[in-house]
Amino acid sequence: MTADCSDNDQPSADDALARLMEGNQRFISGHTEVPTLEKELLLEQAKGQQPYATILGCSDSRVPPELIFDAWLGELFVIRVAGNVLGQSILGTLQYAARYLHTPLFVVMGHEGCGAVEAAVNYQFEGSRHPNKIEFLLDNIAPAFGDLDETAPRAELLKAAVEANVRRTVQALRDSPEGQSQMEHGVKLIGAIYALHTGRVRFLE
Ligand SMILES: [Zn+2]
Repeated sequence: MTADCSDNDQPSADDALARLMEGNQRFISGHTEVPTLEKELLLEQAKGQQPYATILGCSDSRVPPELIFDAWLGELFVIRVAGNVLGQSILGTLQYAARYLHTPLFVVMGHEGCGAVEAAVNYQFEGSRHPNKIEFLLDNIAPAFGDLDETAPRAELLKAAVEANVRRTVQALRDSPEGQSQMEHGVKLIGAIYALHTGRVRFLE
């Protein structure tokens, strides 16, 4: 298998991003287009998948990527984990998406009001404690907070923490040998923040 995008029918990374933006716009405006489930559509989907984007998002019940981007079966390859953190299983899933599904676009999507990020802020700055499996998660998030001003107003601090967490994960993926190789072949790795109050996804530069 090659990581080259030219040997498959995938759209370019920019076209994939435009599709996500259009889908989010339909979601916000209430004009979603996902079809009603029909047997023929299911049979078509059963032949194979070629999702145009991979999304690493949070498990939060309010941020399902398929709904947010008005996407149907087979369109998005989704990984969801509290705080959208990396880990060995997550990296393996991302590598699968890159090598075998050739998705041209990878999005790390955090969200406002993220409980995992808030817990990591309290853990980092106030020393709050949790059961060990949860602290394992928080240990994956807290290193993103190096540049944060812990004296900032609470809402501002949490917002900055969400963005810092996304940016750190995107950077880690871009810095990996796999990420470097993918980007050389036209793949895009970007961050995004979902706003709970508006339903809008803001893609980070
Ligand atoms: Zn969350």
